[in-house]
Amino acid sequence: MDQALTLLGISLDVRSDRGAVRLLQDVSFSLPRRSMTALIGESGSGKTTLAHSITRLFTHPERMHLTGSVMLGDRAIASLEERELRRIRTSVRTVLQEPATAFNPLMKIGAQLADAAGRILSPDEINGLLLRVGLRSPDRILDAYPHELSVGMLQRVSIAAAISTNPSVLIADELTSSLDATNRRTVMDLLRQLQQDLDLAVLVVTHDPMVVEEYADRIIVLYAGRIIERSSRERFFRRPLHPYSRALLEARRNGAVVPSASADAPVRFDALPKGCTYRPRCPYATDACALPEPTLERTDTDDWIRCVNWKSIT
Ligand code: SF4
Repeated sequence: MDQALTLLGISLDVRSDRGAVRLLQDVSFSLPRRSMTALIGESGSGKTTLAHSITRLFTHPERMHLTGSVMLGDRAIASLEERELRRIRTSVRTVLQEPATAFNPLMKIGAQLADAAGRILSPDEINGLLLRVGLRSPDRILDAYPHELSVGMLQRVSIAAAISTNPSVLIADELTSSLDATNRRTVMDLLRQLQQDLDLAVLVVTHDPMVVEEYADRIIVLYAGRIIERSSRERFFRRPLHPYSRALLEARRNGAVVPSASADAPVRFDALPKGCTYRPRCPYATDACALPEPTLERTDTDDWIRCVNWKSIT
């Protein structure tokens, strides 16, 4: 399948006064064109860090050390200079959770859309963008300030801004977290439509697996900066292979709030346990889990799992 984006062996260290701490460990996956992949994990699992690593969108880039390979189509982009990366970021667009913070409160929406596109947009183009994300009355929206629009409308304008540069990859980072169930479904329907109409590779970053149950083609589960499971949607929602995935899914199916990774057994990246990083929380842990760290293993159904005991607990 044609891959829009490929990550190969991505590891990320952050340097501090107390030394380097590893935030991502040997992460590899691809995003095929015209597909939706979900990156799932609790708050603090490293998923937003991973999403930002794709185009090195770091708050303190001087403290970050990224290794591994990132391919946008067939172009290697991991070691590009910042100036070139800025261009690449028009092909890999990220839409963030809080639409209100993504906009300048003092600028009208029309001016901000033009800014996001990085070029002058014709009235037809602007109208087309807004209609594509399901916003009627483009004139009223373009003339509005952000506070005059609802959260749902701002979310759509954010998506319109993201697709204004004709990206090949769209990253939706906790995009639906602040929305009610109806708006959540509407946004996910829209992402699926855009994925098909624009040949996009969509990466949905979420703490809540249920958001993507009807939408994602593939599921990637992250824990402590490692991929611990990579499955088809059907496989994952029928019965996940990893104990952590299972706990995450069961918690949501029972209506529980997904806890932060730091809530009951802190995931401290500077003091991860030896062997399996999930061991302190795992009800199936055995001596075999203590050392070495399990590798990501391919199953005969072409899923991937990082657990030495998965065959005995499925
Ligand atoms: S390797 Fe061991 S501790 Fe880790 S998830 Fe599997 S059973 Fe649990």
